[in-house]
Amino acid sequence: MNKENLKISESKNPPSEGREVVSSNGIVKYIKEVYNGVASLLKGMWRTGYYFTHHKEIITQQYPDNKDTLNLPERFKGEVVMPHNENNEHRCTGCQACELACPNATLKVIFKNELNAEGKKKKAIDKLVYHLELCTMCNLCVIACPSDAIVMAQTFEHSVFDRSLLTKTLNKPGSKIMDGVE
Ligand code: SF4
Ligand code: SF4
Repeated sequence: MNKENLKISESKNPPSEGREVVSSNGIVKYIKEVYNGVASLLKGMWRTGYYFTHHKEIITQQYPDNKDTLNLPERFKGEVVMPHNENNEHRCTGCQACELACPNATLKVIFKNELNAEGKKKKAIDKLVYHLELCTMCNLCVIACPSDAIVMAQTFEHSVFDRSLLTKTLNKPGSKIMDGVE
């Protein structure tokens, strides 16, 4: 065997000392993994046992059993709504500020002409259409509204089988603008 052949043969068969180092590293790694697995299991079992004996500290809420007593965080936003008073009046002037502020065309103001007390034609909202399925609850429309005509409600059960039901008209049928709101 010449010198070159000898070199190739050495590189293909590393010394047995190297193999021992590799195999002892593998065992250490394996023991570490088993240790971490058992520690993680015990930690989980301890947590389960703790809540089993400390019911009042359980964070998960039992929805819908607690529907009547459910307290949502103050900042929770579920949908845009338009409050009306007992005379079926709202504060929307149809200025379109909400429509312009909305980043994804969720709101659309549709106008109609009304006659005012002097018999003159006046622009008023016919519908403020709201596409709940597009709304990201960003609150920008509420901030933009100069008349405080819309707010974010905390309703959240919005599931429907018919997608068209998610398109809503925020002003109630037969409603009109409150006196004094311009
Ligand atoms: S909350 Fe945001 S996304 Fe929803 S209608 Fe208002 S501006 Fe548009
Ligand atoms: S809801 Fe407010 S911002 Fe939107 S059209 Fe009515 S008054 Fe203007």
